Amino acid sequence: MTTGTEVSPLVLIVSGPSGSGKSTLVQRLLELPRTMPSVSRTTRPRRTTESSGKCYDFVTEAEFDAMAARGEFLEYARVFGKHAYGTPLKWLDESRRTGRDLVLEIDVQGAAQVKEKLPESVAIFILPPSREELERRLRSRGQDSEEEIARRLARARDEIQAFGKYYDYCVVNDDMERAGRDVQAILLALRCASARNRGFVERLLASFGRKT
Ligand code: 5GP
Repeated sequence: MTTGTEVSPLVLIVSGPSGSGKSTLVQRLLELPRTMPSVSRTTRPRRTTESSGKCYDFVTEAEFDAMAARGEFLEYARVFGKHAYGTPLKWLDESRRTGRDLVLEIDVQGAAQVKEKLPESVAIFILPPSREELERRLRSRGQDSEEEIARRLARARDEIQAFGKYYDYCVVNDDMERAGRDVQAILLALRCASARNRGFVERLLASFGRKT
């Protein structure tokens, strides 16, 4: 039995190489009640398929730098050495105010910063079943040049090599349905942790009255 109101909501980080299917798995987490997404700020140009405020809030370099200078980010990083991405602190405030678990889809650099600031946060890394399958998925998206695909594969290798340092769980995405159930199971099990439910247990015991 979980009550969800007595301890701070969970902060759940999801990372993985591009092509690992992490965005779809994040959606599976957000299907669970009492969850909310973090909407990142980025200086990357908007793709034609994206609307502002849904996946990202698109901002200029100057706007991003001003937010960073004002200390308004939980974490931020330059991803692929190019565009800046950051998690506004306001989502953490909103998660605590409303008691909903916060789901962050961020890269490995961002995960390291969040783990440093919030050691109780939980990080999940999404792995592709094989290098060949990752390459096949990147090609089938049809959005990247040969050079970009090679860069993403090289980066995937670096991320997979580094992931053991910060990540508590890993999920192999060989089957989206099963992997979706796995990420949901991680969140549901975390909610049932004894340490998160002590307040409830104390109140339950108190309701029994003193031992006679
Ligand atoms: P894309 O531009 O393809 O949407 O995302 C590129 C990478 O940036 C992905 O690995 C994604 O997880 C990461 N990313 C998205 N938002 C953030 C953020 O707020 N902070 C950090 N550090 N990385 C992010």
